[in-house]
Amino acid sequence: MKSLSPIEQALHAARALVLADLVAGRVAEADVVSLVEDSVAQRRWWVEQWPDGVGYVAGLVAQDVQDALLERYGRWPLCPVCPSGDPHALDVEPELGPDPHWVCHQAGVKVAAVGSLAQATGGARSS
Ligand SMILES: [Zn+2]
Repeated sequence: MKSLSPIEQALHAARALVLADLVAGRVAEADVVSLVEDSVAQRRWWVEQWPDGVGYVAGLVAQDVQDALLERYGRWPLCPVCPSGDPHALDVEPELGPDPHWVCHQAGVKVAAVGSLAQATGGARSS
């Protein structure tokens, strides 16, 4: 068993967290997964230049994927907490920091940790 470097561990974790949120939003299509892979590849380069940013990778990958989805599919993830009004997307906070969360700026609430969106949306699949 070879152990992964801290950078590789962080990248694997970021990939898993963002994929979990995509699954929660039912947008984990093959081409969407490739957006995650693209982001992880770019952030691997980024964190190799700046190893101190290793704890920020999950939030950055989430934002990269959000931006890429906005161009191709539209807003993601849609806010699950506001009962009415225009559909709007959640934002990642902090934009550059550890322990990233999805927040709704309209309601001013933390909705879920990145990777835990399924719990907030009730998106667990009924089996
Ligand atoms: Zn909202």
